[in-house]
Amino acid sequence: MRMTVIGTGYVGTVHAACMAGLGHEVLGTDVDAERIAALSAGRTSLREPGLHELLAKTVASGRLRFSTSLAEAASFARTHFVCVGTPRQPDSDAADLRYVDAVVDDLGRHLRPGALVVGKSTVPVGTTARLGRRLAAATRESEVAWNPDFLREGSAVEDAMRPERIVVGVTSEHAEAALRAVYDPMLRAGVPFFSTDPATAELVKAAANSFLATKVSFINAMAEVCDAAGADVTVLAKAVGADSRIGADFLEPGLGFGGSCFPKDFRAFAARAEEIGAGEAVAFLHEVDRINTRQRWRTVALARRLTGGSFAGRRVAVLGAAFKPGSDDVRDSPALAVAAAVRQQGAVVRVHDPQAMDNARAVYPDLGYAPDIRKACQDADLVLHLTPWPEYGDIDPGALAAVVRRPLLLDARNCLDARRWRSAGWSLHALGRPIGGTS
Ligand code: NAD
Repeated sequence: MRMTVIGTGYVGTVHAACMAGLGHEVLGTDVDAERIAALSAGRTSLREPGLHELLAKTVASGRLRFSTSLAEAASFARTHFVCVGTPRQPDSDAADLRYVDAVVDDLGRHLRPGALVVGKSTVPVGTTARLGRRLAAATRESEVAWNPDFLREGSAVEDAMRPERIVVGVTSEHAEAALRAVYDPMLRAGVPFFSTDPATAELVKAAANSFLATKVSFINAMAEVCDAAGADVTVLAKAVGADSRIGADFLEPGLGFGGSCFPKDFRAFAARAEEIGAGEAVAFLHEVDRINTRQRWRTVALARRLTGGSFAGRRVAVLGAAFKPGSDDVRDSPALAVAAAVRQQGAVVRVHDPQAMDNARAVYPDLGYAPDIRKACQDADLVLHLTPWPEYGDIDPGALAAVVRRPLLLDARNCLDARRWRSAGWSLHALGRPIGGTS
């Protein structure tokens, strides 16, 4: 099939490469001419396992091309995926839909009859219907559908090629048939396909994000209770998660979530629910948000206690800057929020991250940065483990103890092997775990 992908950022680049990888003929477009030039040469700055190879292969095969011209896109195909950003509005939590609206308006001027515009961006419920009316005013026989994207940064290609489900919100059999054809190889491989009305499809994405955020904040709330009771949240999480009705995924106590999508999306969902008169039903999301933010300040407070009640003159090593492992993205990174607060309160901070150093430096130029773990920890009074990269799990605690000033570790992600670190002489601490505990 022929199709276009409009907006070749994170989601669009991955979607375009994967669609071409499935054998479709794809034209990607973006307003960013530099990005289009790089992609045309088979290059991307996104660090996603498998993406560079897939992009290079599909561009070389001629199945994937890029252009800055929306008019060219409109004449190239009848199916158009829209993957532009939907950031937060400057003065509220609601989603800013100006990029999505602009694409639909511009496309409307050029579309071929019978075109299908398929949104993949995360949008407030009701957007597909609104855009459908907008497009109908500009062009006849066209349709807007929604196909929310569930990719996770760090495993984006795998998520796009082997999704756990495909959800489409459509208003005609024609649109459903077109989307079934797009995803045919995946459907044959048994991927569940949910075809529904656009409002339900839009809400699936919002509900899934909100559920995951709630699960993270639930176990972090339990960490606060464990702190008050002298109990151990890591054991509690494992035992609660062993219940198959609950499950262990995302029941990981720690520093909480961040990133460019998760927080903005569930805040936008709460704002939209308010607009349509269902605000009370999701009022708990505000508490989920508060618990999540509190983990950052509770981590800073615990770190301060560990350095004797003040950071003044203390050297603090920070392991991790990305908002999660496997990504170089530092947008709303909990790790950097903690690092910046610790520095602001008087510590000398040195940050290490396997991939996100350049991005971190661009946003927080005042923090110190070290090219390797050893240099970050040199003469440190305290080591903060803030992003759970696998390489931090491989650290030899005995060797690291020899370079720090004090073998004092705050494992804010609760995933280092406490027994190993303690037996190498480290004093290991975490939120929701008793001091000197054994787990
Ligand atoms: P992004 O900022 O990386 O990319 C957006 C791209 O759209 C940019 O390249 C921008 O230049 C381009 N663009 C803006 N206006 C345009 C126009 N008029 N014509 C053509 N291109 C235009 O954003 P992203 O991370 O890819 O996210 C896109 C959407 O997908 C958002 O709604 C986001 O919430 C959602 N989403 C993101 C992820 C993720 O992990 N990044 C996952 C699932 C869903």
